[in-house]
Amino acid sequence: MTERARLTDSFLEIVTRRNAGQDEFLQAVRDVAEDVITVEKNNPKWAQAKVLERLTEPDRLIRFRVTWMDEAGVMQINRGWRVQMSNAIGPYKGGLRFHPGVNPSVLKFLAFEQVFKNALTGLPLGGAKGGSDFDPRGRSDAEIMRFCHAFMAELSRYIGPDVDVPAGDINVGTREIGWLFGAYKQSAGAFHGALTGKGEAFGGSAMRVEATGYGLIYFVQAMLAHAGRMLEGQRVAISGKGNVATHAAEKVICEGGTVVALSDTAGTLLAEDGLSQEAVHWVQARKAAGEDIAGPPRRLGLSFVEAALPWGAAEYDIALPCATQNEVDAAAAKQITDSGAILLAEGANMPLQAGALAHLRDSGINYAPGKASNAGGVAISGLEMSQNAHRRFASAAEIDAELKTLMQDIHQRILDEEGGGTRIDYARGANVAAYRRVADALSAMGAV
Ligand code: NDP
Repeated sequence: MTERARLTDSFLEIVTRRNAGQDEFLQAVRDVAEDVITVEKNNPKWAQAKVLERLTEPDRLIRFRVTWMDEAGVMQINRGWRVQMSNAIGPYKGGLRFHPGVNPSVLKFLAFEQVFKNALTGLPLGGAKGGSDFDPRGRSDAEIMRFCHAFMAELSRYIGPDVDVPAGDINVGTREIGWLFGAYKQSAGAFHGALTGKGEAFGGSAMRVEATGYGLIYFVQAMLAHAGRMLEGQRVAISGKGNVATHAAEKVICEGGTVVALSDTAGTLLAEDGLSQEAVHWVQARKAAGEDIAGPPRRLGLSFVEAALPWGAAEYDIALPCATQNEVDAAAAKQITDSGAILLAEGANMPLQAGALAHLRDSGINYAPGKASNAGGVAISGLEMSQNAHRRFASAAEIDAELKTLMQDIHQRILDEEGGGTRIDYARGANVAAYRRVADALSAMGAV
């Protein structure tokens, strides 16, 4: 057993004891610990500060009841949470997710990842995540609005522009952020940017909606350029049909690539010759209407395969999992490498199961972890915070240019960490570069 494996195992024993049964959280911690444990051991200041152990214990985990009334006048009760993981380098920052699968383990994994992702952006942002087990599927607009107001009535006492600044995530888009912000503003008695992802009419940044998907493609372009390739002419398979997936698809098409698949929980849309922008907009409209992607109109030239994954599409060069955590198992990862894909970049957070990640890392495919490749959303949220503070707003073209630069800078930070060369371990580079930044801050502050 190597020194690294021994140190990782004994560290994970402590974390597992404290977080028994929280599988998603333990999976995310293992991924990072394997890469940074010896970095910490070899730096006496960081080892003495027990940086990694502190980063795996949230600053606080807030849980509250959300009570709201449905259309039939029946009282409904949900759980809400906010995990404030670390504010070592800036105010807590991270999205809100409304989904029946939300629980403390999922939110702790997301908050932990967010600490590293936010550090990689180079912006002064700490890490957090929150949400509720509320399922918006089948709920009317009025019910979702009432739920958002009730959720914020509780959450508002724990957030603020210099304290904790939530944004959206699964099932929390611009519309929900509007309802959440309205309730926040009422309860705070002040208009300030305690949420990002707001509508542009009330303090939102241009390009926030597109930022994660577009940023993902800018990051992929940086990876391809480093490998001496271009996106133009490449075939791309994408999972998901939400904000990240469809904006990534939009950008691929703009840049001359071919999107051969998009998917949801009902199945996969395939397009041998590529989806058109019209087809992507049709998918976005279905998502907005709360409908699945079965039965596309004939004019779009798509075929829908029920219960299929996008990774079975014929011939593609790039795989972009953009749906949800652990969506890719080892068999799907094998399908991806068998297809001849040369690159996989994560749009979703931790979309690969442990077995899938091991397979991909062994296969030699060019692999980018979400904490690097999907950081565009939070980066533009960071710019939204500065625009709110200065009360000056930038144009879409300016923000898009900044987004591109931010993603290229993240790519460069990883290259610098890995010492250049042609074979880059993006996962290790991202984990270590982010760790160094947070560790420097935490170890400078003493026992807090
Ligand atoms: P959305 O709510 O916009 O969309 C998610 C979509 O994924 C849903 O429509 C859902 O389909 C689909 N989906 C869920 N599970 C599966 C599955 N197993 N296979 C295929 N499709 C599935 O979410 P986002 O696009 O905002 O987020 C997607 C991922 O990206 C998440 O992991 C999120 O944490 C991450 N992310 C998002 C950011 C953002 O700015 N929005 C920023 C960084 C990361 P259905 O409708 O059938 O349920």
